[in-house]
Formats: sequence, structure tokens, C-alpha cells
Amino acid sequence: MNRRRLCLREMAAGSQERIRAELRLAREQQRVHGAYLFEGPPGSGMRESAHWFARLLLCGAGESEPCERCRDCVKTAPKSTPDAGGPQHPDLKLIEPDGASIKVDQIRALRRELGLVANEGGWRVGLILGAEVLRVEAANALLKTLEEPRPRTTLLLVATQASRLPPTVRSRSIHLRFAPEPEAALRAQLRTHGLSEENAWLAAALGGGSLHSAQAWAEESLDEAREMVALLERAPRLSASELLDFAEAFRGRNEATRARTELLFQVHSAFARRAIEAALAQDSSAELELWLERADAGERARREWARRNLNPQLLVEGLLLELQARAV
Ligand SMILES: [Zn+2]
Repeated sequence: MNRRRLCLREMAAGSQERIRAELRLAREQQRVHGAYLFEGPPGSGMRESAHWFARLLLCGAGESEPCERCRDCVKTAPKSTPDAGGPQHPDLKLIEPDGASIKVDQIRALRRELGLVANEGGWRVGLILGAEVLRVEAANALLKTLEEPRPRTTLLLVATQASRLPPTVRSRSIHLRFAPEPEAALRAQLRTHGLSEENAWLAAALGGGSLHSAQAWAEESLDEAREMVALLERAPRLSASELLDFAEAFRGRNEATRARTELLFQVHSAFARRAIEAALAQDSSAELELWLERADAGERARREWARRNLNPQLLVEGLLLELQARAV
């Protein structure tokens, strides 16, 4: 680990760092529980931490972080999961809401898969995103798994509101509560390490409020994301042919297109959030409403894309047209 990253880590001993330390210790001491409930507001890093823990368990190197080199780490890498088409690792099973809920069939399928012997001879992990929308029957099916935990198998439930889960599920899980790491504080930290205001904003936003991810973004290249921001800024003034040209780059279903689409959705979300903050600061309710709607439209498009493997080119065109439609 380089000094800069170490220094940033020490400055940010937030809830996320503490929880990761706890989970790391549980693994080292071989007392990983059968189920964990990761709860926190969006941007608090709960989802990233659940994914991180799944990767740590599956990593063959036995280090304090996923080694990023072994076969398991490659197959569970964040860029290939969960939004970009689901995990590629046979021992990591991902469940996401199907429409407005998680259905009993999804949980039954998960139970069947977790009941098998691990393909790679190690852990089996079930990652359940949006766990607050588990239907009653689905929660009951899940309970059976929680009541009869299998060795070297764990369930990681991720929820923004744990109180919406049945008490029986909550009581059988170890509850991990994530507090938001305010993006403003992250931005300030990144700024002290020489990032421009724009880059600090973008890295913090793409990092989903998590210092780890923000730092990774800042250390990698932000160029593509910056180009996307510039385009979104110009969107209301783009000609129809410029707009279609840009969307053309999202044609096809290969891995590069997937990654670019995922990035655009993230950038769009950050862009909309920044506009929402500005509208709040200016006390402009018309602007606020407009951007809340746009943020919502982006989220809907992203979910549909992830769930139904829709044509990204059309979704991108739709997002840009939306920015043009009611420009104020
Ligand atoms: Zn590894």
C-alpha cells in the first residue's frame, strides 16, 4: 500500500473502516457468521463493503484484502459485478429485486445453489441486494437457510432500511450499520492530495461515498468520466446528430460497452445529484423537481438495463433526450 493511500485510510476511520476491520477479524479467527445484514443510506459504502467481504472470503490468497491477482479475484472483480451482468464466480450468487420485489422463486434458486458443494472448494456466498423488498414468502424461504446454516456458507443482505425486513430475518443476522461518509468530507480529503475540485467531486461521487472507491477512481483515470460530464453539460445544446453519434458508442453488448454504459449511469447519477444540491442551495423548487425527476429516470434506466439486458444505445439516447426535453 502506498503512503498516500495509507494516510487517507487513517484519516477516515469511518463506520466503513471499522466494519471492514471487524469482518476481516471474523474471517481470520474463523468465526464468520451464517448471515450479515449490511444497512445504511445510499453512498455509505454498505453495498461495496458487502461485495468486498464476499471477495475477501472467496480470494484464495488469504490476505487482509482481496489480492486482485488470483483466479477468484478476477472472477469477482467489481467491474464485472454486480451491475455489469452479475458475478462470474460460481460460488458467488447475486440476488437483486425483480421489479418491485424479491420473489420466492429467486430465494429458492439461491437456496438450491448454496446447498451444493462449493465449486472452487472454499466459501459459498449469497449476496442479496435490496433486501428490504423481500416478499413475505421469500423471507420465509430465506429463514430456512438462516435456521440451518451450512459450513463455509454465508448470506450477505444489503438494505437501506433494515426495519422493513421481518424481525425473524433480522434476529438471525449480524447487523452492520453504515453511517454516511459525507461526500463533502471525501472531496476535501481528495483536494488536500492535489486533486482539482472537479476531479475530487467526480472521484468522490463515483466512489459512492466510499473513500476506498473514490481513491481507486482518483488513482485510475478519470478522463472518460470527465468527457461524459462535459457531454451531459452540453446536452441541452447538442444537435440531434451529435446526440446520436454519442449514443452510437454504446452499441453492442460486449464487455467494453457494458463498462462504458455502467460508467455513464454513474456519471449521470453524480451529475444529477450535483444539480439537486445546487437547486437546494438556491432554494429553487422548479429546478429541484426537474433534477429529482431526471435522477429518478436515470435510476430506472439503470435498473432496467441491468435486469433485462436492454439495448444500452437506446437507453443512452433516452437519457440525453430527457436532458434536452425540459431544459430550464
Ligand atoms: Zn485473490
